[in-house]
Amino acid sequence: MHKKGIIAVISGFSGAGKGTIVNRLVQDYGYAISISATTRQPREGEIDGKHYFFKSKENFENMIKENELIEYAKYCDNYYGTPKDYVFEQINNGIDVLLEIEMQGALQVKKDFPDVSLIFITPPSARELRKRLEGRGTETAEVIEKRLARAVEECVYMPEYDYIMVNDDLDICVKEIHQLLQSLHFSVKNQVDLIEEITADFNK
Ligand code: 5GP
Repeated sequence: MHKKGIIAVISGFSGAGKGTIVNRLVQDYGYAISISATTRQPREGEIDGKHYFFKSKENFENMIKENELIEYAKYCDNYYGTPKDYVFEQINNGIDVLLEIEMQGALQVKKDFPDVSLIFITPPSARELRKRLEGRGTETAEVIEKRLARAVEECVYMPEYDYIMVNDDLDICVKEIHQLLQSLHFSVKNQVDLIEEITADFNK
């Protein structure tokens, strides 16, 4: 029997360690990460087709019109969206795909693709988030305050998610998310094909 991959959304507060966690899941366990399309300018070192597909506003709006995206959102004046092709190709090849997206997009996925699981990553406390953002040394005090204020607003989204994972110890958190993702393969919503197959078999 051909085993399909699963899709899981990963979001969380800025500074919660999402990016690091997702990279570890890719490196250590072979998950695929969806490559998003965006209208924002590439940052130094970012490669088109690897970090993002960089698009003009016109091209992006055309992708929306042609229904080529699983979801999209406007974030800080730029569009971000998940192209369907890559994600569906991976899961059809049996590879699990992670979507690291912000919360509006996550809720859109939940509405349109109810089989997809939504995972929210949080630091253990607000104080710890502040410590991490300050420790990075890459953001100004003003930006840190903005991100913390945003986190206050984002708390309301947590109950909409299926799973909340606390990133206290990175290694443990990565392992726990991997275990969670593996167990999702056994959930009914990810085994619709198997149910159909077995039902048909018994009805032969
Ligand atoms: P950045 O500009 O820092 O790369 O990303 C900004 C935000 O956009 C992050 O919260 C990131 O998770 C989110 N993001 C990246 N790709 C997508 C996408 O395809 N869809 C949505 N909805 N958000 C995305």
